[in-house]
Order: sequence, then structure tokens, then C-alpha cells
Amino acid sequence: MAKPMLEVKDLKAHFFIEAGSVKAVDGISFTLERGETMGLAGESGCGKSTTAYAILQLMPYPGKVVEGEVILDGIDLVQRSPEEMRKIRWKEISICFQGAMNALNPVLRIGDQIMEAILLHEDISQDDARRKMEDMLETVGVDPTRADNYPHEFSGGMKQRAMIAMALVTEPKVIIADEPTTALDVTVEAQVLKLIQSLQKKYNLSVIMITHDLATIAEACDRVAIMYAGKIIEYADVVTIFKERLHPYTEGLIRSVPSLLGSDHLVSVPGSPPGLVFPPEGCRFHPRCPIASEVCLQKEPVFREIRKKHFIACHHAEQMWGKDVWK
Ligand code: SF4
Repeated sequence: MAKPMLEVKDLKAHFFIEAGSVKAVDGISFTLERGETMGLAGESGCGKSTTAYAILQLMPYPGKVVEGEVILDGIDLVQRSPEEMRKIRWKEISICFQGAMNALNPVLRIGDQIMEAILLHEDISQDDARRKMEDMLETVGVDPTRADNYPHEFSGGMKQRAMIAMALVTEPKVIIADEPTTALDVTVEAQVLKLIQSLQKKYNLSVIMITHDLATIAEACDRVAIMYAGKIIEYADVVTIFKERLHPYTEGLIRSVPSLLGSDHLVSVPGSPPGLVFPPEGCRFHPRCPIASEVCLQKEPVFREIRKKHFIACHHAEQMWGKDVWK
């Protein structure tokens, strides 16, 4: 069997603050195949973006990857030096940051920012880099004559397209799209999503799509990992997640979005996610779970394969079959 493009094994990334360590990502594992789009979903603060930074070895201070492996095409990124990572980042794996507005440098022309990424990783002339940059802008639907504009002269949708151009111009194998359509209006959001999908097919890219928007996941992803309080609690193909999910949190999350299943099924998960310096003992979801039992309060559920390629961390997942635990 072919090796996955990216393999994340028991990855832990914590932030060290005065009160203790914030266990933002606390032992997550998943694989990403070549040409696959994996969605990473969950409420804000559940560790989605920290996962992206941990994979790229870009943890902001006072954060650190404390354990685990991130194997990209056979190479463990956690073991690379900062110098080695500078060569790997963008060239092998890149990111389209959340909020293009803040990610682009406001005092540099759009085209120059994209060229900078090319020249950093490729031994080519300024003229060739310019041509490549213009081709890429055209590919993402931005008129190359706008290359000399500054970010503030671009609309939100165009800025997001420019970010996508920057993430793709070095021809990486994996791209992480962190909330790529947040802050865009609905029409532009649909266009940007379509663009990512078409580029993914064109370049046979592996994509991690980080979003709190489950409609985006349903539309664009092959597989989905649901995160809660720093852990992946359910992981399966997109059809299983939307039709045969077995984790009470996944069920609540999907049913909290009226547009997905209709208002008859609407539920709201009570309470809010726990603090991650001292997360709850046992299952981190137990204070909010409608079927929590004694064992849930004491023992952390093992992340196990309940059916073929359907992984779950819940002591009572089997009880979810055909039951409405949120009634
Ligand atoms: Fe609920 Fe227990 Fe499953 Fe956690 S392990 S989701 S508390 S049933």
C-alpha cells in the first residue's frame, strides 16, 4: 500500500504560561493521502489552527511541539532544524493563512510578495520569477496587471486568491488552508472554495482544510477529523461523518447548524469548551455530554477504529447506533 503523504502521530503542542501548560493540541494522530482533502473541524479554540502551526513547526511563543511525529513524504518535520524547515516550508508544505488581510504585508506589492516566495526556494532569474508569479496570478483568477498593486487595493476575495497563489507558487505537495473563506461574503466564499478544489485536482495536492464551517467541510472534503479540546474525537470519511457519526459531540456539532439537517433536528450543545490548562479528567467532553457515565469521568476514552477507517474516542459510541442522545 502506498505511504500516506502526511502522517501525524500522537502530536502534542502546548503553550507554556504562568498558570501552567495550555494543552492546545494533545496527542492527535491522522494521515493524509496524496490528492486528498481532509477537513479539520470543531468549535473555535479546539486546537485546529495550533495543529497547523505545529505541523509547519511554526509554533508562536510561548508554544512548543512537545511530543509526536509529523512525517511528510517520509521525513519527520519535528526532527528538522529551523534552517532545514525554512527550506521545506513553502516548497514541500505551505499554508494559506486565516484572514488574508493580516497575512499579506501591507507595504509590499502583491506581485513582489509572491516573487519573494519563488526566489527564496528556486534558483531562477528575476524575469523568470516574474513570469511564474504572473502565471500563478492568472491561474487563481487575478489579472496579472494587478501584480503591482498593494494589498489594500485588492478586495477581500482577491486578497484570498493572492494568498492561495503565494501558497501554491512553489508547487508544494501539501497545503494547509486555515479558514480560507472566513470573512468573505457568500458568493465570493463559494468562488474561493471552487478555486481551491480545482487547483487541488490540477496539482494533485493534499489539502488540510481547517474550518469551523461544516457546510464547507461537506462540500470540499474527502475525510473529516472533528476536534474537541485539543483532541481528535472522531475521524472518518465525509459521508460517515454526516450520515453515520457516532460521537455525541459530532452529533451535537452537526445538529447545531440549521442549514445542514433542517430545523427539526436542531440541538444546541450546552456549556462551553473546557479550559486547557486543567482540562476535565476522563473524557474532556463529559461535562457537556448527555450520555456521560461514571467511566467517562474517570477514564480517558481510547481513540479506536470502531469500523473500517472510522475512528472514535468515546466509551459509549456503540450506544449511539440509531439513538437520538440529544432529544
Ligand atoms: Fe460522552 Fe462518555 Fe463518550 Fe465522552 S466518552 S463522549 S462523556 S459518552
